[in-house]
Amino acid sequence: MVESAKLPYTNELGFYEMRFESIGGLGANLAGQILAEAMVLGQGLNGASFSSYGSEKKGSPIKSFVRLCAADREVRTSSPVERPHLLAIFHEALTGLDGTTEGLTSESTVVVNTTRTPAEMRDILQLPSGRIGVVDALGIAVQEKTRLNTAMLGAITQAAGFIDREVVRKTIADALSQRYPSLVEPNLRTFDRGYHELVLEDFAPDGKYDWIPFTRFVPALGYANVPLGGTIINPGNTILKDLSPSRQGFVPLFHRDECIDCGKCEMTCPDYCFVWEEGVDKRGRPAMVLQGIDYQHCKGCLKCVEICPVEALTMEREEPELVRRTSIELVGPPEALVAMERSKFHLYGEPESPGYWDKIS
Ligand code: SF4
Ligand code: SF4
Repeated sequence: MVESAKLPYTNELGFYEMRFESIGGLGANLAGQILAEAMVLGQGLNGASFSSYGSEKKGSPIKSFVRLCAADREVRTSSPVERPHLLAIFHEALTGLDGTTEGLTSESTVVVNTTRTPAEMRDILQLPSGRIGVVDALGIAVQEKTRLNTAMLGAITQAAGFIDREVVRKTIADALSQRYPSLVEPNLRTFDRGYHELVLEDFAPDGKYDWIPFTRFVPALGYANVPLGGTIINPGNTILKDLSPSRQGFVPLFHRDECIDCGKCEMTCPDYCFVWEEGVDKRGRPAMVLQGIDYQHCKGCLKCVEICPVEALTMEREEPELVRRTSIELVGPPEALVAMERSKFHLYGEPESPGYWDKIS
């Protein structure tokens, strides 16, 4: 019989709870399943893992949950984890979304896939205190030719403090060995690197930020007031939609000097990310001239990079500063935008080029 692991914290129901904030396709659901299986079969706990998806799966923000308790208790709830003891953020862009850090307490540990330091991450998350771990899970996955969920699993294992690394390694190996035996070794390497390369730092309460009282997120539209068929019909409503979290670590970068304004990227892009302005062509004739990309609407499919005939678009590793420096704001037609509230959200701070609302105010 396996000796039961001791949980460092539990809530009033006796549960230690984890929440993974991720993007459909990054593998947070599988990471949760592997972790829960390892804890139940290998460390003598009871546990459950489950996920919450939006309307689309791949590319949309999702949440995955792991709930653990002592072996003599039962998990008889599958409600979302609202007050996580461990929060893992699989994509840095999610730090800007409402609800990502909801419910953290001074006992919580936060693990983020990022190239930033824990102190930088603390400022972005505005955490009053607690433990923050950072790991370049995407960088590890790119180097090892695997997926970042295994690197995050290593980092989570390290950060939680009570999880037996060998038990999780064995669960990963068991999960892959039958159908994908060639993936076992690279994934174990990825897991080990996530485990060892996690940088953890504790922040004591220093008055820099205040705890925001927990409030349960209630969507503005529900069964009682959503339009017939669930369709939001006011024109231009997608101007508020932010596709940044759908990107999986890479962005197209525009090089004005190479561009011949052929428009192939514009025709290929599924999300109208390209910003054009009236200007003149090389012979001085009136023409539309490409200014750049509004990354708020870019999902990172990189179809534009493939189609560009002159390499005026290249695939680059996404860095927040790169996106902030090079993003050009797409301005919609005034008649569409006036129907919207002025809440356009800038993930990386105010853009350097003024947008429509800045121009008219
Ligand atoms: S496809 Fe390339 S060359 Fe053509 S407009 Fe787009 S960026 Fe410029
Ligand atoms: S990667 Fe290119 S084609 Fe894809 S959404 Fe972004 S700008 Fe459009």
